[in-house]
Amino acid sequence: MRRVMRDVMREVMSNRNWIILALLAVTMTAVAQQPASAPQNPQPVAAPQTEQTAAQPSAAPSGQAQSVQSQPPQALANLAPPTTMDQVVDRVIMREKELIKFLSPRTPIVETYLQNLTQDPQLGPIPQDDHYFLGRMDLSDSIDRSDYLQEKGKGEGEGMEKRLLGGLTKRFKFQYQPLGFSWMIFADRNDFDRQHYNFHYARREFLGDVRCLVFDLTPKKDAGRGRFLGRIWIEDQDFSIVRLNGTYAHASRNSYYYHMDSWRLNLIPGYWVPAYIYSEEGDFTAGAKNKIAFKAQTRMWGYNLKTGTANDELTQIRVDSVTDETPSAQDASPLAAEREWQQQAEDNVLERLERAGLLAPAGDVDKILQTVVNNIEITNNIELPRPVRTRVLTTSPLETFSVGNTIVVSRGLIDVLPDEGSLAMVLSHELAHIVLGHNLGSQYAFNDRMLFSDEATYQNLGFKHIPEEEAAADKKAVEMLKASPYAQKLDSAGLFIKALQKRAPQLSALLQAHLGNNITDNGTVTRMAQLANSAPALDWNKLDQIAALPLGGRVKLNPWDDKVEIVKAQPVAITSARDKMPFEVTPFFPRLSRYNVASTPAATTAAAPTAATTADASPTPTN
Ligand SMILES: [Zn+2]
Repeated sequence: MRRVMRDVMREVMSNRNWIILALLAVTMTAVAQQPASAPQNPQPVAAPQTEQTAAQPSAAPSGQAQSVQSQPPQALANLAPPTTMDQVVDRVIMREKELIKFLSPRTPIVETYLQNLTQDPQLGPIPQDDHYFLGRMDLSDSIDRSDYLQEKGKGEGEGMEKRLLGGLTKRFKFQYQPLGFSWMIFADRNDFDRQHYNFHYARREFLGDVRCLVFDLTPKKDAGRGRFLGRIWIEDQDFSIVRLNGTYAHASRNSYYYHMDSWRLNLIPGYWVPAYIYSEEGDFTAGAKNKIAFKAQTRMWGYNLKTGTANDELTQIRVDSVTDETPSAQDASPLAAEREWQQQAEDNVLERLERAGLLAPAGDVDKILQTVVNNIEITNNIELPRPVRTRVLTTSPLETFSVGNTIVVSRGLIDVLPDEGSLAMVLSHELAHIVLGHNLGSQYAFNDRMLFSDEATYQNLGFKHIPEEEAAADKKAVEMLKASPYAQKLDSAGLFIKALQKRAPQLSALLQAHLGNNITDNGTVTRMAQLANSAPALDWNKLDQIAALPLGGRVKLNPWDDKVEIVKAQPVAITSARDKMPFEVTPFFPRLSRYNVASTPAATTAAAPTAATTADASPTPTN
């Protein structure tokens, strides 16, 4: 059954219609000053505290094999449609409780990227500094979070604490609790009911393709602290909440709740899963005093992450061909053995990263990147023993690395690149490492090195080159670019470097690589910096000069299965310098759409066991 459902998911995912479902959503959550035991309701951000105790919960059990148990709740089919608003409210409450129950065994990845803002006379609010959080959220009884970003040699939670508090408390007297940004995945984890809330019907409204009933929610007088206050959107078929917008009420003195806009996507039958939260605080009107001013995006994914146990995979084992058709009937020569070894390391690393939710499954975005790599290779007469492949990291920080013959680029970096020329620049550097034989990671051919918890990925894997190799790769990359079809497009690549240089001192968290080399060093761009020399002057006021894009504009990540796709958004005309928002965080406005049941062929359930593997090997059908 499990396998069958997975096949169904694969089928569905390969359907173009599905793209709409994966639109970006943003999640925002209130900041919480949080006692060590996770509170049942969001806690306000409190006045500064240098000692933040919140011991990080130990890593979530890293590997509950979770299949797609995504049948719509049984009860639903038997329910008559509600005829009064009271009945609608009852249904909403029931559906929310079902969602909470459905998600409780899961431990999705949560990423929050936050930019503190300062006022620029020309550009408006721009980033002043930034913070990055990445962790797994345990959605069982309470909401806990374990972190990927612990620093080496530090006690558990200490690295996180430092990141959280670094300088912020002093300046703003507020602290960011990463958990705080993900509170608004549910309106109220425990007390979402009529005893605690008043529901006021406001109106009907379409969000994307989905017709919604809109309710304003206010906590009852004696409902206690940390209650949701704001608006919810309910789709009008099953009465699931699809969007929450507001804050939490009754903060105590010296405390504060953030405002959040939280979106859910219908990625599986019967459930709308929390996907994005956007948060924003700050008042930039004349005379306003900002205690706090920031924008933050929270993304959730990896809901369906399977963890490590091979037992789960047994049902999928398939022997491809009866005879080994590789040409050599001999033992491997020393060089061939070396290459085999590197490939083994490469396969190990990619598989491990994917299992941790940090690498998107191979897909269409890879093909785009590979085309660019091919263009550079062909025009430079590069022939490698194995084809170069590309993959996408699911995370936001701007980074690249290569392992064996695979180039890995982060989602965030692809997002901010303005065009193909700048993409070629990014890929050429890693291609140069491969061409020059700067192979890293052969130690990962030993399988014991893959045995670590997902949260410890950054402590156990790393692909940083020595400075000499970095310089050599840059030099080779420029050489290759100049002989490639991108030779005429290097102005935009140089402009991108210039824009990055302009913002780099304020974006240290976004520029902190976790697996590869940093693109910058102490606020100065080092990677491919030479290209900036020949580029035109950077001019924010020149409206047709787009040096870098905001985050989230290019790649969308499916929170359920971690697949990535290129966003197909209508271009919007830029009318002022403030519209450019290079490297910045923006609100989410996903085009909501229902899970497309019709696109799930019933026949799939009867498909032969090999169906999934076959589908994977063939090009994704497109309509
Ligand atoms: Zn490098």
